[in-house]
Amino acid sequence: MDKISNRQKGIRTTAIHAGEAVDPVSRASSPNLVMSSTFAPTEVAGFSARNRDSYEGFVYARVSNPTVKQLEDKLSALEGAEACQCYASGMAASSALLLGRLSQGDHLVISDTNYVGTAELVRDSLPRFGIEVTPVDMSDLDMVERSIRPNTRMMWIETPANPIMRLADIAALARLARAKGVCDVAVDSTFASPIGTRPLELGADFVVHSLTKYIGGHGDAMGGCVLGRKADLEALNLEATVHYGGVLSPFNAWLILRGAATLPIRMRAHEETALAVARFLEGHKNVTRVFYPGLASHPQHELARRQMKNFSGMMTFRVADGAALAKRMVEKLEIIHYAVSLGHHRSLVYWIPTDALMRSTFRHEGELLKRYRDFAGDGVFRFSIGLEDAEDICADLDEVL
Ligand SMILES: *Cc1c(COP(=O)(O)O)cnc(C)c1O
Repeated sequence: MDKISNRQKGIRTTAIHAGEAVDPVSRASSPNLVMSSTFAPTEVAGFSARNRDSYEGFVYARVSNPTVKQLEDKLSALEGAEACQCYASGMAASSALLLGRLSQGDHLVISDTNYVGTAELVRDSLPRFGIEVTPVDMSDLDMVERSIRPNTRMMWIETPANPIMRLADIAALARLARAKGVCDVAVDSTFASPIGTRPLELGADFVVHSLTKYIGGHGDAMGGCVLGRKADLEALNLEATVHYGGVLSPFNAWLILRGAATLPIRMRAHEETALAVARFLEGHKNVTRVFYPGLASHPQHELARRQMKNFSGMMTFRVADGAALAKRMVEKLEIIHYAVSLGHHRSLVYWIPTDALMRSTFRHEGELLKRYRDFAGDGVFRFSIGLEDAEDICADLDEVL
């Protein structure tokens, strides 16, 4: 009962067993929670993390920890990656990757519509370090191509993109990046999860997940990770993990390990319920638009079928008066929580008005604003379908719609 080899096993077996092993001392079957911040070496060794090769095993929990390592190995197996590095949150993972790979004078091409924290970080913080940023509509290959410059070092894709569920073709974008000499292709794959999409197999160099969402899955632990090649992750570990210090707590890693074990079966249930709820919404007289990649009405349904093995539980819908519906939701919803975040076993819904989001975060004008409005109109409800019964979710919605 040593560590199992991951590659030949099915995805459900991998989710449960990869990264784990029976504890050789206690024979414990479930993963140990090791909270120790320091580890006693068996001989005198170096002091800086730069001299890690002089150590056997673990040294200090900001460098690595056995419980976090188990989670990293499980995530590598799920994503088909050589290596994984965990962080304290999805944003800690994203900022580690952006700041760890980009330098003064570099140019970043990024999805014009993506997670608000990432959008604000690249617009407000990166330029302070002399990094140029161009937000583009990643579903338009010509626009992406026109935005690439000789100093474009990274392309950052998010698909499906928060909050409008617009998709980007990872394989086509990675091919374009290669042809144009862009060094790094990074994909925030939080909405798809490793069960839906495996960006590394489509040509990406790095994958980012907020573990707070589907992978943890129960709304009780924040975390994030970056996956990719071993050599790239080692460099990132030294700079962004050890020096920036945003490491994942072993306790959170232990909770997320437990959640990750059921990821494949949860994703199947999320998808099944989401499809039923999306069809209900599409047929409701007070709903004007529904965007769910699994519906034939999604403008990129064909790409979704090619790129997503699971359509996940995320959707967006519009009604005539969103602000009024949001108020009714806060007051009257019984099962669905009116709250931010996503990917939990509980259903979560949130109103995202276009004008406010443009002012606070995206700041689109002209063509980009028009394209955003094509999906979002005056605003969308971002809806994360949980694992409750579809009939109960629909009944809850029917009461407020
Ligand atoms: C939530 C989220 C993040 C940030 O993750 P945190 O764990 O909240 O820091 C990044 N990207 C996407 C797509 C997200 O949904």
